[in-house]
Amino acid sequence: MEAQKMKESSLEDWRKEGAEKFGEDPRNWKFICPACGHIASGQDFLDAGADINDSYQECIGRHTGKSAPRKGDSSGCNWAAYGLFGTLSKGRIVITEDGKRVEVFRFAEEAAS
Ligand SMILES: [Zn+2]
Repeated sequence: MEAQKMKESSLEDWRKEGAEKFGEDPRNWKFICPACGHIASGQDFLDAGADINDSYQECIGRHTGKSAPRKGDSSGCNWAAYGLFGTLSKGRIVITEDGKRVEVFRFAEEAAS
């Protein structure tokens, strides 16, 4: 069985998509954790004292004292997209201007797709 291919887009297209879904302000952008299903906004990260640039690669649980994801608990966990298991094929790939492929969480609105 072949693993499901993750969506790939350029950084520019990804930014455009985010702005279309949530507006220009990244504080309003929402991402879903592939491990526990928690949805957090950029503002949630700022409120937790974290870097807003972590919001598309880290579960907010990393900043609120949560540990490994637990079944049935979507209140946050310690998942990160740059970890060993990436996004469990439930994320997407953003390709930066210098050709780097970065695995990120999905936008909240595309979670079910
Ligand atoms: Zn999580």
